Amino acid sequence: MPNQHTTEAVNHEAILVPLDLAEFHIVNQEWLATGTIRVEVIATATQATCPHCHKPCVKIHDTRPRKKRDRALREHRVELIVLKRRFRCLRCRKAFTEPDTACGWRRKTTARLREEIGKRAYTQPISHVATACGVGPRFVQGCFQSVALQELQEKGLTLDEQQPLDTPEFLGIDEFARRKGHVYETILCDVGTHQVLEVSAGRKLDEVTTLLERLREPDAVKAVSMDMSASYRPAVQLCLPKAHIVVDQQFLFLRAQEDLSEQHAQERTLIGEQLPVLELAWQLKEELRTWYATSTMTTAASNLDAWIEKVHTFGPEPLRKTLSAFKNWRHEILAFFQFLPMRLSNGFVEGKNNRTKAIIRQGYGYRNRYHLRLRILLGNVA
Ligand SMILES: [Zn+2]
Repeated sequence: MPNQHTTEAVNHEAILVPLDLAEFHIVNQEWLATGTIRVEVIATATQATCPHCHKPCVKIHDTRPRKKRDRALREHRVELIVLKRRFRCLRCRKAFTEPDTACGWRRKTTARLREEIGKRAYTQPISHVATACGVGPRFVQGCFQSVALQELQEKGLTLDEQQPLDTPEFLGIDEFARRKGHVYETILCDVGTHQVLEVSAGRKLDEVTTLLERLREPDAVKAVSMDMSASYRPAVQLCLPKAHIVVDQQFLFLRAQEDLSEQHAQERTLIGEQLPVLELAWQLKEELRTWYATSTMTTAASNLDAWIEKVHTFGPEPLRKTLSAFKNWRHEILAFFQFLPMRLSNGFVEGKNNRTKAIIRQGYGYRNRYHLRLRILLGNVA
């Protein structure tokens, strides 16, 4: 900080930091006892365009100081005193105030401060950011919203739930509960490029149909990946008749594992007696895993049928119980092999959902659906 502009800094070694606001010229600066750095600035432009007659104008009518807050320097609050000039147009005789591009019309903060606060809210709950920055939570929400909306726009996404959607070749669809057991949302992703396409209210047939009907080219979808437990199959069959439905393979193994651990828990006391059964179940599960890893389009069906037959004949009860799912989803399980070597999976969608659940749990200040959607669509945040 140059000495001639300081009051308190005379007893300190000071550092010099550029203001980086090209539109302003520094008139004066001081370091207040409170720690605030006060910088008096004035626009570098020597003329302004009259908003009434659009002619350049140079006659300054008067100058009024306006206090604005800028980004802090370490823990020092930075206050800009903008000497705003009022012009009188020589042509149309009307007076006008020069525009302020650093802050915006009637804003008390610089745009770059608002951007900084908005970006902090990407990774921290609203209330934390508000406390840390010494502003209100609503202000933080507003900052986050404008930064996020701009980024969304750059990604070619919109919050308008009526807009048509670009159609990827490989879709992934899943559900999550916004309020446990009450309010469900459907998340639709491009699993080829790992992008969230849309977050849409509800998971019922008509709600999902409305969502899928927004796809611009329904015939361009080659496959839709989903979880066996979800109820999306009818809607996809209805709206995307040309797409193959592929169920996620992770679910198959998880299911088998769950059954094993369930049995293990139930019959722990009979462990000695049960060990051979567990061993057999584990072997059968491993066989299924091998089948999944090594099958091709030509061998998958016959090998799956052989496995089902084996489980049916020799398998322990809990594993036999899973066979109905294999029969019910046989077509969708086998569809996976049509897209090899691409290993189509819903892993990306499930990952997004886990992240979403964490956002809801941590209470990012987004109890309302609008903000939650915005966060999920942004994809790369929190
Ligand atoms: Zn004018």
